[in-house]
Amino acid sequence: MTNKGFSDLTKEELYSLIQKMKLDLKDKIIIPVHHYQSPEIVQFADIIGDSYKLAVNCSRSEKEFIIFCGVLFMAEGASILAKDEQKILIPEPTAGCPMAEMADLEQVKEAFDKIENITGKKTAPILYINSYADLKSFCGKKNGSVCTSSNAPKIIENFLKKGNVIFFLPDYYLGKNTAVKMNINDKKIVKIKKDLSFEKDKDCKNAKIFLWDGFCPIHQRFTVSDIKTLKEKYNDIKIIVHPESPEEVVKNSDFSGSTEKIFNMVLESKPGTVWGIGTETTFVSRLALENKDKTIVPLRESKCKNMMKNTPVNLAESLSSVIDYLNNNGKLKYEVEAKEEYRENAKKALDKMIEIVES
Ligand code: SF4
Repeated sequence: MTNKGFSDLTKEELYSLIQKMKLDLKDKIIIPVHHYQSPEIVQFADIIGDSYKLAVNCSRSEKEFIIFCGVLFMAEGASILAKDEQKILIPEPTAGCPMAEMADLEQVKEAFDKIENITGKKTAPILYINSYADLKSFCGKKNGSVCTSSNAPKIIENFLKKGNVIFFLPDYYLGKNTAVKMNINDKKIVKIKKDLSFEKDKDCKNAKIFLWDGFCPIHQRFTVSDIKTLKEKYNDIKIIVHPESPEEVVKNSDFSGSTEKIFNMVLESKPGTVWGIGTETTFVSRLALENKDKTIVPLRESKCKNMMKNTPVNLAESLSSVIDYLNNNGKLKYEVEAKEEYRENAKKALDKMIEIVES
Protein backbone atom coordinates (compact mmCIF):
# COMPACT_ATOMS: atom_id res chain seq x y z
CA MET A 1 0.00 0.00 0.00
CA THR A 2 1.45 3.41 -0.97
CA ASN A 3 1.06 6.50 1.21
CA LYS A 4 -1.34 7.89 -1.35
CA GLY A 5 -3.26 4.65 -0.97
CA PHE A 6 -3.87 5.20 2.77
CA SER A 7 -5.09 8.76 2.34
CA ASP A 8 -7.39 7.69 -0.50
CA LEU A 9 -9.30 5.23 1.70
CA THR A 10 -12.61 6.09 3.34
CA LYS A 11 -12.47 6.52 7.13
CA GLU A 12 -14.16 3.15 7.62
CA GLU A 13 -11.72 1.39 5.25
CA LEU A 14 -8.73 3.05 6.90
CA TYR A 15 -9.88 2.26 10.45
CA SER A 16 -10.55 -1.38 9.65
CA LEU A 17 -7.18 -1.70 7.89
CA ILE A 18 -5.43 -0.27 10.98
CA GLN A 19 -7.32 -2.75 13.19
CA LYS A 20 -6.29 -5.59 10.87
CA MET A 21 -2.62 -4.56 10.94
CA LYS A 22 -2.78 -4.23 14.74
CA LEU A 23 -4.21 -7.74 14.96
CA ASP A 24 -1.59 -9.18 12.59
CA LEU A 25 1.15 -7.56 14.73
CA LYS A 26 -0.46 -8.14 18.12
CA ASP A 27 2.47 -10.09 19.58
CA LYS A 28 5.01 -7.54 18.39
CA ILE A 29 3.60 -4.04 18.90
CA ILE A 30 2.14 -1.81 21.56
CA ILE A 31 0.51 1.57 20.88
CA PRO A 32 0.77 3.98 23.84
CA VAL A 33 -1.38 7.09 23.28
CA HIS A 34 -1.13 10.39 25.16
CA HIS A 35 -4.35 11.88 26.57
CA TYR A 36 -4.10 14.90 24.23
CA GLN A 37 -4.22 12.85 21.02
CA SER A 38 -7.31 13.08 18.82
CA PRO A 39 -10.18 10.59 19.37
CA GLU A 40 -9.31 9.13 15.93
CA ILE A 41 -5.96 8.02 17.39
CA VAL A 42 -7.24 7.23 20.90
CA GLN A 43 -9.51 4.50 19.46
CA PHE A 44 -6.38 2.49 18.54
CA ALA A 45 -4.66 2.86 21.93
CA ASP A 46 -3.34 -0.09 23.93
CA ILE A 47 -2.63 2.29 26.84
CA ILE A 48 -3.87 5.87 27.28
CA GLY A 49 -2.15 8.11 29.80
CA ASP A 50 -0.09 11.16 30.63
CA SER A 51 3.66 11.27 30.06
CA TYR A 52 4.54 9.54 33.36
CA LYS A 53 2.07 6.67 32.98
CA LEU A 54 3.17 6.08 29.38
CA ALA A 55 6.90 6.23 30.23
CA VAL A 56 6.51 3.66 33.03
CA ASN A 57 4.29 1.35 30.95
CA CYS A 58 6.65 1.49 27.97
CA SER A 59 9.63 0.68 30.19
CA ARG A 60 7.80 -2.47 31.35
CA SER A 61 6.66 -3.60 27.92
CA GLU A 62 8.28 -6.61 26.28
CA LYS A 63 6.90 -5.80 22.80
CA GLU A 64 9.45 -5.42 20.03
CA PHE A 65 7.91 -2.25 18.53
CA ILE A 66 6.45 0.66 20.49
CA ILE A 67 4.45 3.00 18.23
CA PHE A 68 4.25 6.10 20.39
CA CYS A 69 1.36 8.42 19.63
CA GLY A 70 2.40 11.60 21.39
CA VAL A 71 5.11 14.19 20.79
CA LEU A 72 8.77 13.60 20.05
CA PHE A 73 10.23 14.05 23.56
CA MET A 74 7.88 11.31 24.81
CA ALA A 75 8.96 8.83 22.13
CA GLU A 76 12.59 9.78 22.77
CA GLY A 77 12.04 9.18 26.51
CA ALA A 78 10.62 5.73 25.72
CA SER A 79 13.71 5.01 23.60
CA ILE A 80 15.97 5.87 26.56
CA LEU A 81 14.14 3.40 28.80
CA ALA A 82 13.76 0.73 26.09
CA LYS A 83 15.55 -2.59 25.99
CA ASP A 84 18.27 -2.99 23.35
CA GLU A 85 16.13 -5.10 21.04
CA GLN A 86 13.12 -2.76 21.16
CA LYS A 87 12.36 -0.15 18.49
CA ILE A 88 10.42 3.05 19.17
CA LEU A 89 8.41 4.66 16.39
CA ILE A 90 6.43 7.88 16.12
CA PRO A 91 3.91 8.27 13.28
CA GLU A 92 4.89 11.93 12.67
CA PRO A 93 8.49 12.93 13.48
CA THR A 94 7.84 16.70 13.34
CA ALA A 95 5.52 16.49 16.36
CA GLY A 96 7.74 18.63 18.61
CA CYS A 97 7.03 20.61 21.78
CA PRO A 98 7.69 24.37 21.99
CA MET A 99 8.25 24.15 25.75
CA ALA A 100 10.91 21.44 25.39
CA GLU A 101 12.69 23.69 22.88
CA MET A 102 12.90 26.63 25.32
CA ALA A 103 15.95 25.36 27.19
CA ASP A 104 19.29 25.31 25.38
CA LEU A 105 21.94 22.99 26.86
CA GLU A 106 24.80 25.52 26.82
CA GLN A 107 22.67 28.17 28.54
CA VAL A 108 21.46 25.62 31.07
CA LYS A 109 25.07 24.68 31.93
CA GLU A 110 25.93 28.37 32.41
CA ALA A 111 22.90 28.95 34.65
CA PHE A 112 23.75 25.84 36.71
CA ASP A 113 27.27 27.17 37.40
CA LYS A 114 25.88 30.59 38.33
CA ILE A 115 23.50 29.00 40.85
CA GLU A 116 26.30 26.96 42.47
CA ASN A 117 28.50 30.07 42.64
CA ILE A 118 25.91 32.33 44.22
CA THR A 119 24.55 29.80 46.75
CA GLY A 120 27.77 27.89 47.45
CA LYS A 121 25.60 24.76 47.73
CA LYS A 122 25.20 21.55 45.78
CA THR A 123 22.61 22.12 43.08
CA ALA A 124 20.19 19.45 41.86
CA PRO A 125 18.68 19.93 38.41
CA ILE A 126 15.04 18.80 38.47
CA LEU A 127 13.95 18.44 34.89
CA TYR A 128 10.34 18.32 33.79
CA ILE A 129 9.87 15.27 31.58
CA ASN A 130 8.82 17.62 28.74
CA SER A 131 12.40 17.98 27.53
CA TYR A 132 14.87 16.34 25.16
CA ALA A 133 17.62 13.79 25.80
CA ASP A 134 20.50 16.31 25.93
CA LEU A 135 18.97 17.97 28.99
CA LYS A 136 17.95 14.68 30.56
CA SER A 137 21.55 13.57 30.17
CA PHE A 138 22.85 16.78 31.80
CA CYS A 139 20.40 16.23 34.65
CA GLY A 140 21.61 12.64 35.20
CA LYS A 141 25.25 13.71 35.01
CA LYS A 142 24.66 16.25 37.78
CA ASN A 143 22.84 13.64 39.90
CA GLY A 144 19.43 15.30 39.51
CA SER A 145 16.11 13.78 38.52
CA VAL A 146 13.40 14.03 35.91
CA CYS A 147 9.90 14.83 37.24
CA THR A 148 6.34 15.09 35.97
CA SER A 149 3.56 17.47 36.96
CA SER A 150 2.13 14.90 39.39
CA ASN A 151 5.35 13.95 41.17
CA ALA A 152 7.23 17.30 41.11
CA PRO A 153 6.55 18.03 44.85
CA LYS A 154 7.80 14.61 45.91
CA ILE A 155 10.96 14.85 43.80
CA ILE A 156 11.75 18.42 44.92
CA GLU A 157 11.14 17.51 48.57
CA ASN A 158 13.52 14.56 48.27
CA PHE A 159 16.38 16.80 47.09
CA LEU A 160 15.64 19.70 49.48
CA LYS A 161 15.83 17.27 52.41
CA LYS A 162 19.39 16.42 51.37
CA GLY A 163 20.29 20.13 51.55
CA ASN A 164 20.38 20.68 47.78
CA VAL A 165 19.38 23.87 46.00
CA ILE A 166 16.90 23.11 43.21
CA PHE A 167 17.35 24.21 39.60
CA PHE A 168 13.93 23.54 38.05
CA LEU A 169 13.46 23.55 34.27
CA PRO A 170 12.14 24.16 31.67
CA ASP A 171 8.59 25.12 32.80
CA TYR A 172 8.51 28.22 35.02
CA TYR A 173 4.84 27.84 35.95
CA LEU A 174 5.04 24.22 37.04
CA GLY A 175 8.09 25.08 39.16
CA LYS A 176 6.45 28.17 40.69
CA ASN A 177 3.09 26.49 41.36
CA THR A 178 4.84 23.52 42.95
CA ALA A 179 7.06 25.73 45.14
CA VAL A 180 4.02 27.75 46.29
CA LYS A 181 2.13 24.54 47.07
CA MET A 182 5.12 23.40 49.15
CA ASN A 183 5.00 26.69 51.12
CA ILE A 184 8.47 27.76 50.02
CA ASN A 185 9.02 31.41 50.97
CA ASP A 186 8.56 33.65 47.90
CA LYS A 187 11.92 35.40 48.51
CA LYS A 188 13.58 32.01 48.08
CA ILE A 189 11.95 31.25 44.73
CA VAL A 190 14.07 32.89 42.03
CA LYS A 191 13.31 33.19 38.32
CA ILE A 192 16.25 33.02 35.93
CA LYS A 193 15.64 35.60 33.24
CA LYS A 194 16.32 35.10 29.53
CA ASP A 195 19.72 36.87 29.82
CA LEU A 196 20.55 34.42 32.68
CA SER A 197 20.42 37.15 35.33
CA PHE A 198 18.45 36.39 38.49
CA GLU A 199 15.12 37.96 39.41
CA LYS A 200 15.60 41.14 41.49
CA ASP A 201 14.66 41.56 45.17
CA LYS A 202 15.11 37.87 45.94
CA ASP A 203 17.35 36.20 48.49
CA CYS A 204 19.53 34.45 45.88
CA LYS A 205 22.22 33.36 48.33
CA ASN A 206 19.71 31.47 50.48
CA ALA A 207 17.29 30.57 47.69
CA LYS A 208 15.71 27.13 47.72
CA ILE A 209 14.66 26.96 44.08
CA PHE A 210 15.71 28.63 40.83
CA LEU A 211 13.25 28.49 37.94
CA TRP A 212 13.97 28.49 34.21
CA ASP A 213 11.80 30.86 32.18
CA GLY A 214 10.04 28.38 29.85
CA PHE A 215 6.32 27.77 29.39
CA CYS A 216 3.73 25.74 27.54
CA PRO A 217 1.89 28.03 25.09
CA ILE A 218 -1.24 25.90 25.44
CA HIS A 219 -1.54 26.28 29.22
CA GLN A 220 -0.09 29.79 29.49
CA ARG A 221 -3.19 31.12 27.70
CA PHE A 222 -5.60 30.57 30.58
CA THR A 223 -6.57 33.65 32.59
CA VAL A 224 -8.38 34.52 35.83
CA SER A 225 -11.00 36.23 33.68
CA ASP A 226 -11.72 32.84 31.97
CA ILE A 227 -12.46 31.44 35.44
CA LYS A 228 -14.77 34.37 36.31
CA THR A 229 -16.68 33.96 33.05
CA LEU A 230 -17.39 30.29 33.75
CA LYS A 231 -18.24 30.91 37.42
CA GLU A 232 -20.82 33.51 36.31
CA LYS A 233 -22.31 31.19 33.72
CA TYR A 234 -22.59 27.96 35.76
CA ASN A 235 -23.75 27.55 39.35
CA ASP A 236 -21.62 25.20 41.44
CA ILE A 237 -18.97 24.81 38.74
CA LYS A 238 -15.64 23.43 39.93
CA ILE A 239 -12.54 24.66 38.13
CA ILE A 240 -9.58 22.32 37.74
CA VAL A 241 -6.45 23.37 35.87
CA HIS A 242 -3.11 21.88 34.90
CA PRO A 243 -0.15 23.26 36.92
CA GLU A 244 1.54 24.43 33.70
CA SER A 245 -1.03 27.29 33.90
CA PRO A 246 -0.06 30.73 35.29
CA GLU A 247 0.18 31.07 39.07
CA GLU A 248 -2.87 33.37 39.39
CA VAL A 249 -4.99 30.88 37.45
CA VAL A 250 -3.94 28.01 39.71
CA LYS A 251 -4.60 30.15 42.83
CA ASN A 252 -8.10 31.04 41.65
CA SER A 253 -9.05 27.47 40.70
CA ASP A 254 -10.70 24.93 42.98
CA PHE A 255 -8.15 22.25 42.11
CA SER A 256 -5.00 21.78 40.08
CA GLY A 257 -3.30 18.62 38.94
CA SER A 258 -1.74 16.56 36.19
CA THR A 259 -3.76 15.39 33.19
CA GLU A 260 -4.13 11.98 34.85
CA LYS A 261 -5.43 13.61 38.06
CA ILE A 262 -7.92 15.74 36.08
CA PHE A 263 -9.07 12.61 34.23
CA ASN A 264 -9.58 10.62 37.45
CA MET A 265 -11.23 13.44 39.42
CA VAL A 266 -13.82 14.03 36.72
CA LEU A 267 -14.38 10.30 36.18
CA GLU A 268 -14.94 9.69 39.90
CA SER A 269 -17.17 12.76 40.46
CA LYS A 270 -20.93 12.44 40.98
CA PRO A 271 -23.38 12.59 38.07
CA GLY A 272 -24.70 16.12 37.58
CA THR A 273 -21.44 17.84 38.63
CA VAL A 274 -20.17 20.73 36.53
CA TRP A 275 -16.48 21.10 35.61
CA GLY A 276 -14.50 23.88 33.97
CA ILE A 277 -11.20 22.43 32.81
CA GLY A 278 -7.99 24.31 32.07
CA THR A 279 -5.96 22.05 29.87
CA GLU A 280 -5.64 20.98 26.22
CA THR A 281 -9.07 21.19 24.57
CA THR A 282 -9.00 17.95 22.55
CA PHE A 283 -8.64 16.11 25.86
CA VAL A 284 -11.44 18.16 27.49
CA SER A 285 -13.80 17.35 24.57
CA ARG A 286 -13.09 13.62 24.92
CA LEU A 287 -13.65 13.81 28.67
CA ALA A 288 -17.04 15.46 28.00
CA LEU A 289 -17.96 12.71 25.52
CA GLU A 290 -16.97 9.95 27.95
CA ASN A 291 -18.80 11.56 30.93
CA LYS A 292 -22.17 12.52 29.49
CA ASP A 293 -23.79 12.49 32.95
CA LYS A 294 -21.69 15.56 33.88
CA THR A 295 -21.31 19.02 32.36
CA ILE A 296 -17.72 19.51 31.22
CA VAL A 297 -16.55 22.71 29.55
CA PRO A 298 -13.09 24.01 28.62
CA LEU A 299 -11.76 27.05 30.45
CA ARG A 300 -11.08 28.33 26.93
CA GLU A 301 -10.20 26.76 23.58
CA SER A 302 -6.50 25.82 23.55
CA LYS A 303 -5.34 23.05 21.24
CA CYS A 304 -1.83 21.63 20.90
CA LYS A 305 -1.14 21.51 17.15
CA ASN A 306 1.84 19.24 17.65
CA MET A 307 -0.28 16.60 19.37
CA MET A 308 -2.62 16.69 16.36
CA LYS A 309 0.16 15.80 13.91
CA ASN A 310 -0.36 12.06 14.46
CA THR A 311 -3.26 10.99 12.27
CA PRO A 312 -4.83 7.65 11.29
CA VAL A 313 -3.05 7.96 7.91
CA ASN A 314 0.45 8.28 9.37
CA LEU A 315 -0.35 5.70 12.06
CA ALA A 316 -1.29 3.30 9.22
CA GLU A 317 2.02 4.15 7.52
CA SER A 318 3.92 3.33 10.72
CA LEU A 319 2.13 0.00 11.14
CA SER A 320 2.62 -0.87 7.50
CA SER A 321 6.33 -0.02 7.77
CA VAL A 322 6.67 -2.52 10.65
CA ILE A 323 5.16 -5.25 8.44
CA ASP A 324 7.53 -4.33 5.59
CA TYR A 325 10.49 -4.17 7.97
CA LEU A 326 9.73 -7.65 9.33
CA ASN A 327 9.64 -8.87 5.72
CA ASN A 328 13.06 -7.25 5.12
CA ASN A 329 11.39 -4.86 2.78
CA GLY A 330 11.77 -1.32 4.03
CA LYS A 331 12.57 1.26 6.69
CA LEU A 332 10.61 1.94 9.85
CA LYS A 333 8.43 5.05 9.85
CA TYR A 334 9.68 6.79 11.92
CA GLU A 335 12.21 5.30 14.29
CA VAL A 336 13.16 7.50 17.26
CA GLU A 337 16.46 6.93 19.02
CA ALA A 338 18.07 9.14 21.63
CA LYS A 339 21.70 9.88 20.70
CA GLU A 340 24.08 7.30 22.16
CA GLU A 341 26.12 10.00 23.96
CA TYR A 342 23.04 10.98 26.01
CA ARG A 343 21.51 7.60 26.76
CA GLU A 344 23.31 6.51 29.93
CA ASN A 345 22.93 9.71 31.95
CA ALA A 346 19.44 10.44 30.59
CA LYS A 347 18.36 6.98 31.76
CA LYS A 348 19.92 7.68 35.14
CA ALA A 349 17.76 10.83 35.50
CA LEU A 350 14.59 8.97 34.45
CA ASP A 351 15.35 5.99 36.70
CA LYS A 352 15.93 8.38 39.62
CA MET A 353 12.39 9.72 39.21
CA ILE A 354 10.91 6.22 39.12
CA GLU A 355 12.98 5.20 42.17
CA ILE A 356 11.81 8.23 44.23
CA VAL A 357 8.17 7.88 43.18
CA GLU A 358 7.98 4.16 43.79
CA SER A 359 9.89 4.28 47.11
S1 SF4 B 1 0.58 20.70 25.37
FE1 SF4 B 1 2.29 22.12 25.79
S2 SF4 B 1 3.85 20.89 26.81
FE2 SF4 B 1 2.39 19.45 25.85
S3 SF4 B 1 3.32 18.99 23.85
FE3 SF4 B 1 1.87 20.69 23.53
S4 SF4 B 1 3.18 22.53 23.75
FE4 SF4 B 1 4.34 20.82 24.63
